Amino acid sequence: MVAAGEARFLVDGKLVDSSSGATFDNVNPATEEVLGPVADGTAADMEAAVAAARRAFDTTDWSTDHELRKRCLFQLQAAITEEKEDLRAELVAEVGCPVLVTYGPQLDAPLSEALTWPAEQIDSFPWHRSLGRKDPFGLGDAEREVWKEPIGVIGVIVPWNFPIEIILNKLGPVLAMGNTCVLKPAPDTPWNATRLGRLIAERTDIPPGVVNIVTSSDHLVGEVLTTSPSVDMVAFTGSTATGKRIMQAASANLKPVFLELGGKSVNLLLDDADFSQVGGLASSVCFHGGQGCAMPTRFLVPRSHYDDAVEAAAEAFAGVSYGDPTDPSHLMGPLVSRTQRERVLGYIEKGKAEGARLVYGGGTPAHLSKGWYVEPTLFADVDNSMTIAQEEIFGPVLVMIPFDDDDDAVRIANDSVYGLSGMITSGDLDRAKAVARRIRTGTLALNGGIWYGADAPFGGYKQSGIGRQCGLEGLEIFTETKTVGWPA
Ligand code: NAD
Repeated sequence: MVAAGEARFLVDGKLVDSSSGATFDNVNPATEEVLGPVADGTAADMEAAVAAARRAFDTTDWSTDHELRKRCLFQLQAAITEEKEDLRAELVAEVGCPVLVTYGPQLDAPLSEALTWPAEQIDSFPWHRSLGRKDPFGLGDAEREVWKEPIGVIGVIVPWNFPIEIILNKLGPVLAMGNTCVLKPAPDTPWNATRLGRLIAERTDIPPGVVNIVTSSDHLVGEVLTTSPSVDMVAFTGSTATGKRIMQAASANLKPVFLELGGKSVNLLLDDADFSQVGGLASSVCFHGGQGCAMPTRFLVPRSHYDDAVEAAAEAFAGVSYGDPTDPSHLMGPLVSRTQRERVLGYIEKGKAEGARLVYGGGTPAHLSKGWYVEPTLFADVDNSMTIAQEEIFGPVLVMIPFDDDDDAVRIANDSVYGLSGMITSGDLDRAKAVARRIRTGTLALNGGIWYGADAPFGGYKQSGIGRQCGLEGLEIFTETKTVGWPA
């Protein structure tokens, strides 16, 4: 049993209850048991948080004091690291994430650098750039410079699938660049965020109001961040549908939006690949129950090898170990909620109805009586126009699509409203790179190479998003540009 998490959220440097006094339940998706309560924030709480962030940006020296920002980011990283094992257990309990995943992208990988890499860039970041002298109107030479400045108050809205990874990769750059923020976590996974709030309040010199965190059971409380004139920008990770709503709401004040959205990425196996890898490549979609935006959910296989590949994939799916997320041998746990499970099962029914061949899984596992599990599910004979090949399912569901040659593979890969990530496997790295250049997507793993890192820009083409998280692009996005001139 995991210890009860922090029930209060953080506004203006203080841990507080909801102004309504209400709480909501944090539920374990593997056991369906209530873990404990968390404050159920209201729109008024969100407005108070925005006012605190505004005040901190406008009246403190946070936006200009580089040394303070560096110190605070390192303090926060040290404080989280001290509680890492408690946080790990909490993530497994509230996300339903297999503990195996926390040793990689769910916790250890981001914690090692998501706050510190941006802090380390503060000194070398090009805050000033000289343009040299010019006399454009014949009025005398002017000395000109470009200054980079923080944007102001950032509304940060995050989902539940990799909550702490996404929070750290947003807060690191937002704070390093001198902004203040209000964070709204997903209602399904609140405690990792409220833990962070407690650590910020109790263990760091981050001035009151610089980071505010408001949990709520009501998704729409997040709308305050998209409509308030006191918020200068929205940084959002979540579904494309919500991203569109946020962009629409933010347009009333012409507020810039930074959107990390959904994906339907390809796992592309070229005909010169080592086909003994098929099983491993196929079942990778079950990692964390397929609840990852960058999951390669469309498996593209040469038609000449298709039948053998489907057989190998089915064998691998039968061997996927899943169940209790605290068991370190499990690749997948439950889905995050009953709603999410119903959604995934709905897509499976749609796949069958549209004529795809269900090769493996397709239902809820008989051996698990509690928890929102879905069986590893494999579809063959899928046409790329089918719903299960076009829409993001966000569950352990793989669709296998045959292709004729590299041109056909590229055509299918690009025949998607999304363009977030993908994988290409080939016996010839140069050929893989040539194909990679033709696929309209934000990240690609070639022959299993992992691109991930705090220094690696991540984000989407097309409806997978606007802007990049991490890397230099991910720092730049949280800055404004001011050009100044003076008589030389
Ligand atoms: P979601 O879009 O339903 O919710 C995301 C967040 O937005 C939650 O905090 C939610 O409470 C909030 N929200 C919902 N409606 C809102 C509104 N009208 N105004 C303001 N805030 C609102 O997404 P989800 O179901 O929590 O997460 C799964 C989705 O996230 C998938 O589509 C996945 O691909 C995407 N995702 C993308 C990335 C990426 O980096 N591209 C990473 C992880 C997840």
